[in-house]
Amino acid sequence: MKVLYLDNNATTRLADEAREAMLPFLSEFYGNPSSMHTFGGQVHREIEKARERVAALINAEPGEIIFTSCGTESDNTAIMSALQSKPEKRHIITTRVEHPAVLNFCKALARRGYRVTFLPVDKQGRLDLQELQDSISDDTALVSIMYANNESGVIFPVEEISAIVKSKGITFHTDGVQAAGKISVDIKKLDVDMMSLSGHKIHGAKGIGALYISRGTRFSPYIIGGHRESGRRAGTENVASIVAFGKACEIADEHVRSGDNRVRVLRDRLEKGLIDKCPDTRINGDRDNRLPNTLNISFEYVEGEAILLRLNEFNICASSGSACTSGSLEPSHVLRAMGVPFTAIHGSVRFSLSRYTMDQDIDTVLEKMPLIIKELRELSPFGREADNLK
Ligand code: PLP
Repeated sequence: MKVLYLDNNATTRLADEAREAMLPFLSEFYGNPSSMHTFGGQVHREIEKARERVAALINAEPGEIIFTSCGTESDNTAIMSALQSKPEKRHIITTRVEHPAVLNFCKALARRGYRVTFLPVDKQGRLDLQELQDSISDDTALVSIMYANNESGVIFPVEEISAIVKSKGITFHTDGVQAAGKISVDIKKLDVDMMSLSGHKIHGAKGIGALYISRGTRFSPYIIGGHRESGRRAGTENVASIVAFGKACEIADEHVRSGDNRVRVLRDRLEKGLIDKCPDTRINGDRDNRLPNTLNISFEYVEGEAILLRLNEFNICASSGSACTSGSLEPSHVLRAMGVPFTAIHGSVRFSLSRYTMDQDIDTVLEKMPLIIKELRELSPFGREADNLK
């Protein structure tokens, strides 16, 4: 049975073109890109081609891109580099809604004696830039604020944030894992020092990431060993995945540049359909400033996990901000930071689309969801209580 996949912020299917591009590097082209011989040299050239493609996606120079093992490594690397470059400074500013790759790393640093400010967000998931400005001190080494949120899809004003942070001479890192390849990202305009990227969010392979390090930014490597990536990240390169990442970036870049808004139209149709067909719903996140592929919606009086299980029976994949489904015991830290009421957090579902999402997929979800929600509300004591109150 066909899987109806609407969980593309978790991961994406590998693009056919990316798979084709990577296959030769899993078989005949197995040379080490650092070897002196021609056999290794040809692999090295393919890595450089991929670097150019990744750079082009965000309008960077190829020399400003290093490959890493994933978005998480890029985030950790950027943060550690900023701290090591200014060892006398012990203060980090980030937000309460970061991905755990930044959030939990910053919490670990707090346990090691760093002072960390976790900026709050408002009900729409937006930052208060005045609060950012006020939290900067002479001791601040780094500001790390994500570009787009993986759960709500909310896009932060990175250009404005960067202007504030850079005017104080502080290093600015942004986690661009969910943004690059989905919306237009022009790093030259943004003036950030470092940006994290990940292959598997944009139809590349899993286990490959990149870190943009702007020319002139002081950098201190995290993974130390042999002289790879111009001495900025040791370890023999994951050649096949790098090649696939390059191809995935090239295709994503074409899509973003073409102004193709099919995904946004599908997402909006899904959103409107669910609001119209299911009473007591709410949209989580700033609707005017969201990733075009993301819909985070709460269904009051039902458990998100129960919704996911019912969707799963129809082979529909989505995710929820409620307990356990996301692999953690806590309800979504993002929705909690946004002050979403507890009942709505528990009934939240994230649908995330991709360019492979079809019209019929949305039709199917719109057909199944109202029945699922009605059924679950009839079973739920909260649902029955709410009905009695009406
Ligand atoms: N940052 C954000 C915003 C993400 O959504 C993710 C993955 O979900 C990551 C970082 C981590 O990326 P990776 O899975 O490549 O480690």
